[in-house]
Amino acid sequence: MITVVKFGGSSVASAEQFKKIKNIIEKDDSRRVVVVSALGKRFSGDNKITDLLYLLSEHIRYGVDYTNIFNMITSRYEEIRKDLDLSIDLSIEFDKIKENIGLGEQYIVSRGEYLCAKLMAVYLGFTFVDAADVVFFNYDGTLDEEKTAEAVKTAFVTYGKIVVPGFYGAYPTGKVKLFSRGGSDITGSIMAMAVKAKLYENWTDVSGLLMADPKIVKNPIGVDEITHDELRELSHMGASVLHEETIFPISDLDIPINILNTNRPEDKGTLILKESNKTDSIITGIAGKKNYKAISVIKSNWANKLDVMKSALDIFATFKVTIEHMTSSIDSFVIVAEAKYLEKTMYDILSELKKIKGVQKIDVDNDLALVAVVGRNMALKPGISGKIFSVFGDSGINIKTISQGPQEINIMVGVGNADFEKAINTVYTGFLNVK
Ligand code: ASP
Repeated sequence: MITVVKFGGSSVASAEQFKKIKNIIEKDDSRRVVVVSALGKRFSGDNKITDLLYLLSEHIRYGVDYTNIFNMITSRYEEIRKDLDLSIDLSIEFDKIKENIGLGEQYIVSRGEYLCAKLMAVYLGFTFVDAADVVFFNYDGTLDEEKTAEAVKTAFVTYGKIVVPGFYGAYPTGKVKLFSRGGSDITGSIMAMAVKAKLYENWTDVSGLLMADPKIVKNPIGVDEITHDELRELSHMGASVLHEETIFPISDLDIPINILNTNRPEDKGTLILKESNKTDSIITGIAGKKNYKAISVIKSNWANKLDVMKSALDIFATFKVTIEHMTSSIDSFVIVAEAKYLEKTMYDILSELKKIKGVQKIDVDNDLALVAVVGRNMALKPGISGKIFSVFGDSGINIKTISQGPQEINIMVGVGNADFEKAINTVYTGFLNVK
């Protein structure tokens, strides 16, 4: 039985944090594959090493003296080494990085996780395995799953207990390639897939996912269990606890992910599962975002002329604007997209839409926020959407758009931006403890 454990930036930010990690690892002998991020912030206002490394890379690109920033980065690692009295000569590593500094941004930025894993391996007495030797990308940037799984398995079988830096891998040429920001979560998932782990523990600085954003709802309750599909819906709408792509490597496998708090290891956290039979609440979570635009295309009887919708969608595709959702009636259809994607393209999109044959009018609503009410237990239960609408009505919130698919795990409601926070609070209070 193997547990893959991944520790995020704040969990590895100092020697104190390293000690907490050692306690966690020593409590359970199945914790044999460790993935680490680069050092994060120790306090608010502190720097994340990854941000500093991007800055370092910019200095190099513009030929500016980088001594200070380089020293700022290396001193964070040196401090941990000294505090924990680790027998590793980091100056050799720092010199190597300087020698290879011309390899470019991806290499430079990856050194944050690389150095952290080097220290962690010595501290835990595990073997360091470089992600560039076991996580392989194809030339098109996709993961070479088979080759990666093989290499990880071999490393694990050879060494038994390993520490792997998160966030990067390598092309077939050996050139380092990063995942997108926050990508160490994906490395953890890849490790779990490769060693067929019984569990993937993702250790961070919060005790799991909350039912709503604590900046909007006061003291929201935690989510005990959530499915892959529910998590995808909520993270798409802004609930951020894991990188959005984390579940892909294990989406066909029954490997639970447990989100846990390095600073409060006894807290229960959130269990992310492919399927869940737990029925203790109707709603799993509420998330949402402000600042959408709803563009209505009006043409009588358009539904009989599907080419109108096709042409409209083609225009959005041409301008590379992601469509959030669509609603329709017999004489119009509405395309909803985030305002930030339309900043530079709105004028052109509108003028192209007007050119579509037979289109009579285009209306734009610039004041739309979307609230996603997500829950696997809403499916096949009459009255849920009715209750959502009635709690909105009771609070005087006007609903502008509604959408729900037949899977019934997400009811998306559009309201005015000014009603956004109130809408989330209203659903939270209205559904708390509703079974
Ligand atoms: N260190 C990287 C970042 O800050 C990757 C990660 O932490 O997952 O984005």
